[in-house]
Amino acid sequence: MQFFASTKLVTEKWLFILTSLLVVAVLIVITLSAQDDSQHSFTPQLYTAETASPPGTLKALYSHTDMNWQPVTNPVSFGYTGTPHWVTFSLASANLNGQPSYIEVGYPLLDNIDVWIVQDDAQYLLSEGDSKPFNQRQLRYNNFLFALPENNLPAEVFVRVESSSVVKLPVKIWQREAFSEYTANTNLIMGLFFGLLLAMGLSNLFFFFTTRNLTFLFYTGYVLCLGLTLASMHGFGYKYLWPEQVWFQSQAVSFLASATLFFAVIFSGSLLEVRQHSLLFTKCFRALSVSFLVLTASSLLLDYVISITVFLVLLTITVILIMGVAIWFAMRRISIAGYYALAWSALLISALSASLDNLGILNISIPSQVLLVYGATIEALMLSFILAISYSRQRDQMMQAKEQALEQQREAVSAKQELIELQQRAQDELEYKVQERTLELEIALRELSDANRELEKLNTIDPLTGIRNRRHFNKRLQAEGRRSRREQTPLALAMIDIDHFKQINDQYGHSVGDTCIRHVAQTLQSLLKRPSDDVCRYGGEEFAIILPNTETEGAGQLVESIRQQLAETPCIIDNESISLTLSGGVASAIISHEDAETELLKLADERLYAAKQAGRNRVVATSVKPH
Ligand code: GH3
Ligand code: MG
Ligand code: MG
Repeated sequence: MQFFASTKLVTEKWLFILTSLLVVAVLIVITLSAQDDSQHSFTPQLYTAETASPPGTLKALYSHTDMNWQPVTNPVSFGYTGTPHWVTFSLASANLNGQPSYIEVGYPLLDNIDVWIVQDDAQYLLSEGDSKPFNQRQLRYNNFLFALPENNLPAEVFVRVESSSVVKLPVKIWQREAFSEYTANTNLIMGLFFGLLLAMGLSNLFFFFTTRNLTFLFYTGYVLCLGLTLASMHGFGYKYLWPEQVWFQSQAVSFLASATLFFAVIFSGSLLEVRQHSLLFTKCFRALSVSFLVLTASSLLLDYVISITVFLVLLTITVILIMGVAIWFAMRRISIAGYYALAWSALLISALSASLDNLGILNISIPSQVLLVYGATIEALMLSFILAISYSRQRDQMMQAKEQALEQQREAVSAKQELIELQQRAQDELEYKVQERTLELEIALRELSDANRELEKLNTIDPLTGIRNRRHFNKRLQAEGRRSRREQTPLALAMIDIDHFKQINDQYGHSVGDTCIRHVAQTLQSLLKRPSDDVCRYGGEEFAIILPNTETEGAGQLVESIRQQLAETPCIIDNESISLTLSGGVASAIISHEDAETELLKLADERLYAAKQAGRNRVVATSVKPH
């Protein structure tokens, strides 16, 4: 942004300097061109006589005895009267300086101008005017030029002039050589100005083609039409562009001036962007541009006086409107409007000075048409400058808008990116939490299952002895029964009962009895060798031992060794030794059907009973197959 702003300012600064230099150059040329040519030219005192019916020839004039010649300023302006005018002036030999001379009438838009040069008795009639083709002129010069006889005698000159437009007569007498020099200089300066206008018109036309910005085209139309109008006002149009078109020459100024104003109005509307600021002014501009377009077309057909009158009325409205809008906009700080008002003032001031000069209020050494050319050139230069900065500002605004749009897009993309990242983070967090919870749950489940297992285990432990209880025994018996059936291995079962335990309870009390039960349980457990062997408290002072994959004989021997060990190790409580014995019943079988374990248990129980019957402290393991 900073870069744009600074380059914009630098560009505008240089443009402004360049335009100012050009304007200064124009002003210098104006000053230089306002040369004092009085040494080589002579401005005669003019006399005119107004009559109700001006005579058509010099002869008729002579017969008019009531002509009342009055001195008038030179140049003299008669305005729009439509009637012929007579002017006369005298030339003394001294005025001619002994040199061949010309009479110049410096207003090229006169329809008919007849000049009688009366010397002694000789008369010369020279007729000119743009009512005949340019090429038929005796002296082809943009203004009217009449050659004085080379005899250098004093002369009386009578001029009869008739025109449908304004009648003005700036009369000058030139020495021919000095005139050539003067013409060369003037033509060079005029050529420069017209060349400048043409160059600006063409360059802006190229700008239009490259930028497609209509304001450039309007400016081109304006500056080219302005150039053509000025050229026709100076007689250059008739001389160089339409020397045979008498009819067009009679309408050229009103036609071209209307076209110029048409372009001026649409150019101003477009440059000041009136449409964006005021609906009322937009309508005014549109109405004016349409009026000028209609006037342009109709000026070719209308009487010159009518069309130029309408033109002047519209011009007044336009000048007031455009200046008013420009000043109003400038006050509202619409940046280019100030420059614009300044540019129009250049033309207005020159037009005003020209008018004041015409009216004789102001005396300017430069002819009024020339003054207009200068004013118009300065204005065109300044307008071109305004157009350049206006376009450059518009382009900068567009680039800024583009930059902003890009920035917004970038922001939108990054916001989207952020959203996506946020979503991603939320999702990640959620996933992490889910994983965490899942882990916690898994841990909890594991703990629960551990607790369950622990509970299960506790459920199967006998609290008094710390060995497995009856519940565990039932399950284990069933499981080992299945394995025996599957693997066809013998399953041995021993039922053990402490002898005369009731007496121990009676004698020492239940607490000691309990200790004795624990002692027996520990003895039983300590004597089991295989990990698969399992001893359980079956109930009261009864125990059961499961011995998988064990024949009856082996099982009987194991229980027998247990019996012996217990008999040898009494239970010692409070230094008191209590001897304990046990009786056991052992049975073993390969389980062959569903209820075989129960039968095996029953058989072992029967053998225990048999051992008791046989006198206790013994093991019965007779190999008897259950059923
Ligand atoms: P036998 O030689 O015929 O087996 O004689 P016994 O006295 O052991 O007779 P029986 O098996 O019928 O009696 C068991 C006694 O064991 C009954 C009961 O008072 C006692 N007893 C059962 N369970 C416990 C126990 O947990 N603690 C204690 N202290 N005594 C128990
Ligand atoms: Mg018992
Ligand atoms: Mg017993």
